[in-house]
Amino acid sequence: MRTRIAIAGGGLGGLTLARILHRHGIDAVVYEREASRSARSQGGSLDLHPESGQQALAEAGLAGRFRSEARPEGEEHRILDPAGRTLVHHKPQPGSFSGRPEIDRSVLRDLLLDSLPGDTVAWQHRLVAATPRPDGGLGLRFDGGHRTDCDILIGADGTRSIVRSLLTDVTLSHVATLVELNISDADRRHPDLAELVGPGNLWCIGVNQILAAQRLGDGSIRVGISLRAENRDIDTYRSKRALLDMFDGWDASLTALIEAGDSPPTPRRIEAMPTGTRWVHQPGITLIGDAAHLMPPVGEGANQAMLDAAELAVELATSPADPDAAIRRYEEAMFTRTHPIAEMSARVQAMMLSPTAADDIIRFFTTGPTEAVPAV
Ligand SMILES: Cc1cc2nc3c(=O)[nH]c(=O)nc-3n(C[C@H](O)[C@H](O)[C@H](O)COP(=O)(O)OP(=O)(O)OC[C@H]3O[C@@H](n4cnc5c(N)ncnc54)[C@H](O)[C@@H]3O)c2cc1C
Repeated sequence: MRTRIAIAGGGLGGLTLARILHRHGIDAVVYEREASRSARSQGGSLDLHPESGQQALAEAGLAGRFRSEARPEGEEHRILDPAGRTLVHHKPQPGSFSGRPEIDRSVLRDLLLDSLPGDTVAWQHRLVAATPRPDGGLGLRFDGGHRTDCDILIGADGTRSIVRSLLTDVTLSHVATLVELNISDADRRHPDLAELVGPGNLWCIGVNQILAAQRLGDGSIRVGISLRAENRDIDTYRSKRALLDMFDGWDASLTALIEAGDSPPTPRRIEAMPTGTRWVHQPGITLIGDAAHLMPPVGEGANQAMLDAAELAVELATSPADPDAAIRRYEEAMFTRTHPIAEMSARVQAMMLSPTAADDIIRFFTTGPTEAVPAV
Protein backbone atom coordinates (compact mmCIF):
# COMPACT_ATOMS: atom_id res chain seq x y z
CA MET A 1 0.00 0.00 0.00
CA ARG A 2 1.25 3.53 -0.80
CA THR A 3 2.33 5.76 2.09
CA ARG A 4 -0.14 8.64 2.32
CA ILE A 5 1.81 11.85 2.91
CA ALA A 6 -0.01 14.98 4.05
CA ILE A 7 1.76 18.36 4.07
CA ALA A 8 0.03 21.02 6.17
CA GLY A 9 0.74 24.42 4.59
CA GLY A 10 1.39 25.45 0.99
CA GLY A 11 4.06 28.10 1.60
CA LEU A 12 7.55 27.95 0.15
CA GLY A 13 8.56 25.00 2.35
CA GLY A 14 5.47 22.86 1.77
CA LEU A 15 5.39 23.43 -1.99
CA THR A 16 9.13 22.76 -2.42
CA LEU A 17 8.68 19.51 -0.51
CA ALA A 18 5.70 18.43 -2.64
CA ARG A 19 7.60 19.28 -5.83
CA ILE A 20 10.75 17.31 -4.95
CA LEU A 21 8.71 14.32 -3.73
CA HIS A 22 6.81 14.44 -7.02
CA ARG A 23 10.09 14.37 -8.94
CA HIS A 24 10.94 11.17 -7.06
CA GLY A 25 7.56 9.64 -7.95
CA ILE A 26 6.14 10.12 -4.42
CA ASP A 27 2.64 11.60 -4.11
CA ALA A 28 1.70 14.04 -1.36
CA VAL A 29 -1.30 16.24 -0.69
CA VAL A 30 -0.70 19.84 0.42
CA TYR A 31 -3.51 21.13 2.66
CA GLU A 32 -3.53 24.95 2.47
CA ARG A 33 -5.86 27.19 4.46
CA GLU A 34 -6.03 29.94 1.83
CA ALA A 35 -8.78 29.74 -0.78
CA SER A 36 -6.54 30.08 -3.84
CA ARG A 37 -3.05 31.09 -4.90
CA SER A 38 -4.14 34.71 -5.24
CA ALA A 39 -6.14 34.93 -2.00
CA ARG A 40 -3.50 36.98 -0.18
CA SER A 41 -0.58 39.20 -1.14
CA GLN A 42 2.58 37.14 -0.63
CA GLY A 43 4.74 40.03 0.58
CA GLY A 44 8.13 41.29 -0.56
CA SER A 45 11.08 39.82 -2.30
CA LEU A 46 13.63 37.23 -1.11
CA ASP A 47 17.27 36.68 -1.89
CA LEU A 48 17.90 32.99 -2.45
CA HIS A 49 21.27 31.72 -1.28
CA PRO A 50 23.27 29.29 -3.43
CA GLU A 51 23.79 26.81 -0.59
CA SER A 52 20.16 26.66 0.57
CA GLY A 53 17.23 28.17 -1.40
CA GLN A 54 18.93 27.83 -4.79
CA GLN A 55 20.13 24.31 -3.97
CA ALA A 56 16.54 23.32 -3.15
CA LEU A 57 15.34 24.76 -6.45
CA ALA A 58 18.00 22.72 -8.25
CA GLU A 59 16.69 19.56 -6.50
CA ALA A 60 13.24 20.64 -7.64
CA GLY A 61 14.44 20.87 -11.26
CA LEU A 62 13.55 24.57 -11.29
CA ALA A 63 16.98 26.26 -11.42
CA GLY A 64 16.43 27.37 -15.02
CA ARG A 65 13.00 28.85 -14.28
CA PHE A 66 14.50 30.62 -11.26
CA ARG A 67 17.23 32.23 -13.39
CA SER A 68 14.69 33.53 -15.85
CA GLU A 69 12.52 35.04 -13.09
CA ALA A 70 15.12 36.27 -10.58
CA ARG A 71 16.57 39.79 -10.43
CA PRO A 72 20.33 39.74 -9.73
CA GLU A 73 20.33 43.55 -9.76
CA GLY A 74 18.02 43.36 -6.72
CA GLU A 75 21.10 42.53 -4.62
CA GLU A 76 22.10 46.19 -4.75
CA HIS A 77 21.70 47.79 -1.34
CA ARG A 78 22.17 51.17 0.21
CA ILE A 79 22.47 52.11 3.87
CA LEU A 80 21.75 55.70 4.89
CA ASP A 81 21.70 57.62 8.13
CA PRO A 82 18.63 59.62 9.27
CA ALA A 83 20.04 62.73 7.55
CA GLY A 84 19.97 60.87 4.23
CA ARG A 85 23.78 60.49 3.97
CA THR A 86 24.97 57.29 2.30
CA LEU A 87 26.94 55.04 4.64
CA VAL A 88 27.20 51.95 2.40
CA HIS A 89 26.33 51.42 -1.27
CA HIS A 90 26.85 47.90 -2.56
CA LYS A 91 26.37 47.13 -6.27
CA PRO A 92 26.53 43.54 -7.51
CA GLN A 93 28.34 42.60 -10.73
CA PRO A 94 25.87 43.36 -13.55
CA GLY A 95 23.87 40.25 -14.55
CA SER A 96 25.80 37.99 -12.15
CA PHE A 97 23.95 35.02 -10.67
CA SER A 98 26.88 34.06 -8.44
CA GLY A 99 25.49 35.84 -5.37
CA ARG A 100 21.98 35.90 -3.93
CA PRO A 101 19.59 37.11 -6.63
CA GLU A 102 16.24 38.47 -5.49
CA ILE A 103 12.91 37.01 -6.53
CA ASP A 104 9.44 38.20 -5.58
CA ARG A 105 7.74 35.78 -3.22
CA SER A 106 4.61 35.61 -5.36
CA VAL A 107 6.69 34.74 -8.44
CA LEU A 108 8.56 32.02 -6.55
CA ARG A 109 5.36 30.56 -5.14
CA ASP A 110 3.75 30.55 -8.60
CA LEU A 111 6.81 28.88 -10.04
CA LEU A 112 6.46 26.06 -7.48
CA LEU A 113 2.67 25.79 -7.87
CA ASP A 114 2.94 25.58 -11.66
CA SER A 115 5.40 22.70 -11.32
CA LEU A 116 2.92 20.49 -9.42
CA PRO A 117 0.09 18.32 -10.74
CA GLY A 118 -3.15 20.31 -10.54
CA ASP A 119 -4.66 18.28 -7.71
CA THR A 120 -1.66 18.44 -5.34
CA VAL A 121 -2.90 21.43 -3.34
CA ALA A 122 -6.20 21.16 -1.49
CA TRP A 123 -7.06 24.85 -1.10
CA GLN A 124 -9.30 26.10 1.70
CA HIS A 125 -8.24 23.29 4.03
CA ARG A 126 -7.20 24.82 7.33
CA LEU A 127 -5.94 22.07 9.59
CA VAL A 128 -7.43 22.45 13.06
CA ALA A 129 -6.45 19.15 14.67
CA ALA A 130 -4.22 16.14 14.06
CA THR A 131 -4.67 13.08 16.23
CA PRO A 132 -2.36 10.05 16.27
CA ARG A 133 -4.36 6.86 15.58
CA PRO A 134 -3.85 3.75 17.71
CA ASP A 135 -3.12 1.68 14.58
CA GLY A 136 -0.52 4.19 13.26
CA GLY A 137 -0.86 7.29 11.13
CA LEU A 138 -2.92 10.34 12.00
CA GLY A 139 -6.45 11.57 11.68
CA LEU A 140 -6.70 15.12 10.33
CA ARG A 141 -9.59 17.52 10.93
CA PHE A 142 -10.08 20.72 8.95
CA ASP A 143 -12.03 23.89 9.53
CA GLY A 144 -15.57 23.23 8.27
CA GLY A 145 -15.56 19.62 9.47
CA HIS A 146 -13.81 17.75 6.64
CA ARG A 147 -11.71 14.81 7.91
CA THR A 148 -9.09 12.54 6.40
CA ASP A 149 -6.27 10.20 7.43
CA CYS A 150 -2.59 10.07 6.54
CA ASP A 151 0.43 7.90 7.31
CA ILE A 152 2.90 10.80 7.53
CA LEU A 153 2.11 14.39 8.47
CA ILE A 154 4.61 17.13 7.70
CA GLY A 155 3.92 20.47 9.34
CA ALA A 156 4.88 23.25 6.92
CA ASP A 157 2.24 25.47 8.47
CA GLY A 158 4.44 28.40 9.44
CA THR A 159 4.61 30.67 12.48
CA ARG A 160 1.55 29.44 14.36
CA SER A 161 1.89 25.81 13.33
CA ILE A 162 -0.81 23.43 14.52
CA VAL A 163 1.43 20.44 13.87
CA ARG A 164 4.24 21.88 16.04
CA SER A 165 2.07 21.50 19.12
CA LEU A 166 2.11 17.69 18.65
CA LEU A 167 5.89 17.67 19.04
CA THR A 168 6.87 20.51 21.38
CA ASP A 169 5.22 23.00 23.70
CA VAL A 170 7.68 25.86 23.02
CA THR A 171 6.25 29.34 23.16
CA LEU A 172 7.07 32.15 20.76
CA SER A 173 8.67 35.38 21.90
CA HIS A 174 7.93 38.82 20.48
CA VAL A 175 11.26 40.07 19.07
CA ALA A 176 10.24 43.14 17.06
CA THR A 177 7.35 44.97 15.49
CA LEU A 178 7.28 45.43 11.73
CA VAL A 179 5.04 48.02 10.07
CA GLU A 180 4.58 47.64 6.32
CA LEU A 181 3.40 49.96 3.55
CA ASN A 182 3.22 49.53 -0.21
CA ILE A 183 3.92 52.11 -2.91
CA SER A 184 2.61 50.90 -6.26
CA ASP A 185 3.83 52.01 -9.70
CA ALA A 186 6.75 53.83 -8.09
CA ASP A 187 8.66 54.84 -11.25
CA ARG A 188 5.71 56.78 -12.60
CA ARG A 189 4.06 58.02 -9.40
CA HIS A 190 7.14 58.61 -7.19
CA PRO A 191 10.26 58.74 -9.40
CA ASP A 192 12.36 60.35 -6.65
CA LEU A 193 11.55 57.49 -4.26
CA ALA A 194 12.26 54.94 -7.00
CA GLU A 195 15.66 56.62 -7.47
CA LEU A 196 16.32 56.67 -3.71
CA VAL A 197 15.56 52.97 -3.25
CA GLY A 198 17.29 51.79 -6.46
CA PRO A 199 16.81 48.28 -7.88
CA GLY A 200 17.30 46.49 -4.54
CA ASN A 201 17.12 47.36 -0.86
CA LEU A 202 17.52 50.51 1.18
CA TRP A 203 18.00 50.69 4.94
CA CYS A 204 17.93 53.92 6.92
CA ILE A 205 19.28 53.21 10.36
CA GLY A 206 18.23 55.18 13.40
CA VAL A 207 18.39 54.59 17.13
CA ASN A 208 16.23 51.55 17.93
CA GLN A 209 14.36 51.90 14.63
CA ILE A 210 14.94 51.20 10.95
CA LEU A 211 13.12 52.54 7.91
CA ALA A 212 13.68 50.12 5.03
CA ALA A 213 12.41 49.86 1.47
CA GLN A 214 12.63 47.20 -1.18
CA ARG A 215 12.00 47.31 -4.92
CA LEU A 216 9.76 44.49 -6.22
CA GLY A 217 9.66 43.08 -9.74
CA ASP A 218 6.17 44.50 -10.36
CA GLY A 219 7.47 48.08 -10.07
CA SER A 220 6.20 48.65 -6.54
CA ILE A 221 8.21 49.54 -3.43
CA ARG A 222 7.62 47.73 -0.17
CA VAL A 223 8.38 49.84 2.88
CA GLY A 224 9.12 48.21 6.24
CA ILE A 225 9.59 49.96 9.56
CA SER A 226 11.28 47.79 12.20
CA LEU A 227 10.79 48.75 15.83
CA ARG A 228 11.79 47.19 19.11
CA ALA A 229 9.27 44.87 20.72
CA GLU A 230 7.42 46.94 23.27
CA ASN A 231 4.24 46.49 25.20
CA ARG A 232 2.57 49.12 23.08
CA ASP A 233 -0.80 48.62 21.44
CA ILE A 234 -0.01 47.50 17.89
CA ASP A 235 -2.91 49.59 16.55
CA THR A 236 -0.84 52.70 17.39
CA TYR A 237 1.12 51.98 14.25
CA ARG A 238 -1.86 51.93 11.91
CA SER A 239 -1.66 55.70 11.38
CA LYS A 240 0.86 57.36 9.09
CA ARG A 241 0.75 60.44 11.33
CA ALA A 242 1.89 58.41 14.35
CA LEU A 243 4.71 56.87 12.32
CA LEU A 244 5.82 60.24 10.97
CA ASP A 245 5.98 61.53 14.55
CA MET A 246 8.30 58.64 15.42
CA PHE A 247 10.61 59.70 12.57
CA ASP A 248 10.52 63.36 13.49
CA GLY A 249 13.88 64.97 12.62
CA TRP A 250 14.67 62.50 9.82
CA ASP A 251 15.34 63.91 6.38
CA ALA A 252 12.14 64.59 4.43
CA SER A 253 13.44 62.56 1.46
CA LEU A 254 13.31 59.48 3.72
CA THR A 255 10.02 60.06 5.53
CA ALA A 256 8.46 60.57 2.09
CA LEU A 257 8.52 56.75 1.94
CA ILE A 258 5.92 56.72 4.73
CA GLU A 259 3.82 59.50 3.25
CA ALA A 260 3.70 57.83 -0.17
CA GLY A 261 2.18 54.56 1.13
CA ASP A 262 -0.91 53.59 -0.88
CA SER A 263 -3.00 52.69 2.15
CA PRO A 264 -2.79 52.78 5.95
CA PRO A 265 0.25 51.02 7.43
CA THR A 266 -0.04 47.37 8.44
CA PRO A 267 1.72 46.46 11.70
CA ARG A 268 2.63 42.91 12.71
CA ARG A 269 4.41 41.24 15.56
CA ILE A 270 7.64 39.49 14.61
CA GLU A 271 8.10 36.39 16.72
CA ALA A 272 10.74 33.72 17.15
CA MET A 273 11.12 30.28 18.72
CA PRO A 274 13.85 29.72 21.31
CA THR A 275 17.10 28.98 19.46
CA GLY A 276 18.10 25.33 19.64
CA THR A 277 14.53 24.04 19.88
CA ARG A 278 14.45 20.26 19.36
CA TRP A 279 11.83 17.60 19.98
CA VAL A 280 11.82 13.89 20.65
CA HIS A 281 11.06 12.06 17.41
CA GLN A 282 7.54 10.76 17.08
CA PRO A 283 6.56 8.28 14.40
CA GLY A 284 4.91 9.71 11.32
CA ILE A 285 5.21 13.44 12.16
CA THR A 286 7.76 16.12 11.49
CA LEU A 287 8.13 19.85 10.78
CA ILE A 288 9.86 22.00 8.21
CA GLY A 289 10.44 25.74 7.86
CA ASP A 290 9.02 28.27 10.29
CA ALA A 291 7.01 25.51 11.99
CA ALA A 292 10.34 23.87 12.93
CA HIS A 293 12.60 26.87 13.61
CA LEU A 294 10.89 30.25 13.45
CA MET A 295 13.72 32.82 13.56
CA PRO A 296 13.92 36.61 13.27
CA PRO A 297 13.58 37.67 9.61
CA VAL A 298 17.13 38.55 8.64
CA GLY A 299 17.24 36.68 5.35
CA GLU A 300 17.39 32.99 6.28
CA GLY A 301 13.89 31.68 7.05
CA ALA A 302 12.65 30.95 3.53
CA ASN A 303 16.05 29.68 2.44
CA GLN A 304 16.18 27.23 5.35
CA ALA A 305 12.53 26.19 4.83
CA MET A 306 13.31 25.26 1.23
CA LEU A 307 16.49 23.41 2.21
CA ASP A 308 14.54 21.51 4.91
CA ALA A 309 12.09 20.50 2.19
CA ALA A 310 14.85 19.32 -0.14
CA GLU A 311 16.66 17.34 2.55
CA LEU A 312 13.48 15.70 3.86
CA ALA A 313 12.30 14.79 0.35
CA VAL A 314 15.63 13.20 -0.53
CA GLU A 315 15.66 11.22 2.74
CA LEU A 316 12.09 9.96 2.13
CA ALA A 317 12.97 9.01 -1.44
CA THR A 318 16.08 7.14 -0.22
CA SER A 319 14.17 5.02 2.33
CA PRO A 320 10.68 4.47 0.93
CA ALA A 321 10.19 1.35 3.05
CA ASP A 322 11.26 3.03 6.31
CA PRO A 323 9.99 6.62 6.34
CA ASP A 324 10.59 6.95 10.07
CA ALA A 325 14.30 6.32 9.66
CA ALA A 326 14.26 8.96 6.92
CA ILE A 327 12.50 11.47 9.18
CA ARG A 328 14.94 10.82 12.04
CA ARG A 329 17.93 11.44 9.77
CA TYR A 330 16.31 14.62 8.43
CA GLU A 331 15.52 15.91 11.94
CA GLU A 332 19.04 15.37 13.31
CA ALA A 333 20.66 17.08 10.33
CA MET A 334 18.12 19.93 10.38
CA PHE A 335 18.60 20.61 14.13
CA THR A 336 22.38 20.74 13.66
CA ARG A 337 22.19 22.97 10.58
CA THR A 338 19.63 25.49 11.80
CA HIS A 339 20.80 26.01 15.40
CA PRO A 340 23.77 28.30 14.55
CA ILE A 341 21.69 30.07 11.89
CA ALA A 342 18.95 30.84 14.41
CA GLU A 343 21.58 32.13 16.86
CA MET A 344 23.12 34.37 14.19
CA SER A 345 19.64 35.63 13.21
CA ALA A 346 18.87 36.54 16.82
CA ARG A 347 22.21 38.41 17.11
CA VAL A 348 21.63 40.33 13.87
CA GLN A 349 18.07 41.21 14.90
CA ALA A 350 19.27 42.56 18.26
CA MET A 351 22.07 44.50 16.54
CA MET A 352 19.69 46.11 14.05
CA LEU A 353 17.49 47.60 16.71
CA SER A 354 20.20 48.70 19.13
CA PRO A 355 21.27 52.28 19.88
CA THR A 356 24.59 51.61 18.08
CA ALA A 357 22.96 49.94 15.06
CA ALA A 358 24.43 52.25 12.41
CA ASP A 359 28.05 51.61 13.43
CA ASP A 360 27.43 47.90 14.01
CA ILE A 361 25.71 47.40 10.67
CA ILE A 362 28.38 49.26 8.72
CA ARG A 363 31.01 47.07 10.37
CA PHE A 364 28.87 44.02 9.60
CA PHE A 365 28.55 44.89 5.92
CA THR A 366 32.10 46.05 5.38
CA THR A 367 34.15 43.62 7.47
CA GLY A 368 31.86 41.01 8.98
CA PRO A 369 30.12 37.93 7.67
CA THR A 370 27.69 38.38 4.80
CA GLU A 371 25.47 35.48 5.69
CA ALA A 372 22.46 37.60 6.52
CA VAL A 373 20.96 40.88 5.52
CA PRO A 374 18.08 42.46 7.40
CA ALA A 375 14.68 41.82 5.83
CA VAL A 376 12.35 44.67 4.98
C1 LIG B 1 8.95 40.64 6.90
C2 LIG B 1 9.64 39.36 6.62
C3 LIG B 1 10.69 39.33 5.71
C4 LIG B 1 11.35 38.15 5.45
N1 LIG B 1 12.38 38.14 4.55
C5 LIG B 1 13.04 37.00 4.32
C6 LIG B 1 14.12 36.97 3.39
O1 LIG B 1 14.50 37.96 2.80
N2 LIG B 1 14.75 35.77 3.17
C7 LIG B 1 14.36 34.64 3.80
O2 LIG B 1 14.96 33.57 3.57
N3 LIG B 1 13.33 34.63 4.68
C8 LIG B 1 12.67 35.77 4.94
N4 LIG B 1 11.63 35.79 5.83
C9 LIG B 1 11.23 34.54 6.48
C10 LIG B 1 10.34 33.72 5.57
O3 LIG B 1 9.24 34.50 5.16
C11 LIG B 1 9.84 32.47 6.24
O4 LIG B 1 10.86 31.87 6.97
C12 LIG B 1 9.29 31.49 5.21
O5 LIG B 1 8.19 32.05 4.54
C13 LIG B 1 8.92 30.19 5.88
O6 LIG B 1 8.33 29.34 4.93
P1 LIG B 1 7.30 28.24 5.44
O7 LIG B 1 6.87 27.51 4.21
O8 LIG B 1 7.88 27.47 6.57
O9 LIG B 1 6.10 29.06 6.07
P2 LIG B 1 5.10 30.10 5.39
O10 LIG B 1 5.73 30.77 4.23
O11 LIG B 1 4.57 30.93 6.50
O12 LIG B 1 3.94 29.19 4.82
C14 LIG B 1 3.04 28.56 5.68
C15 LIG B 1 1.79 28.21 4.88
O13 LIG B 1 0.94 27.43 5.70
C16 LIG B 1 -0.38 27.90 5.61
N5 LIG B 1 -1.02 27.54 6.87
C17 LIG B 1 -0.81 28.07 8.10
N6 LIG B 1 -1.56 27.44 9.02
C18 LIG B 1 -2.24 26.47 8.36
C19 LIG B 1 -3.18 25.49 8.79
N7 LIG B 1 -3.55 25.36 10.08
N8 LIG B 1 -3.71 24.65 7.85
C20 LIG B 1 -3.33 24.76 6.52
N9 LIG B 1 -2.47 25.71 6.08
C21 LIG B 1 -1.91 26.53 6.99
C22 LIG B 1 -0.24 29.40 5.37
O14 LIG B 1 -1.39 29.94 4.77
C23 LIG B 1 0.98 29.44 4.45
O15 LIG B 1 0.64 29.34 3.10
C24 LIG B 1 10.95 36.96 6.12
C25 LIG B 1 9.89 36.99 7.03
C26 LIG B 1 9.26 38.19 7.28
C27 LIG B 1 8.15 38.20 8.30
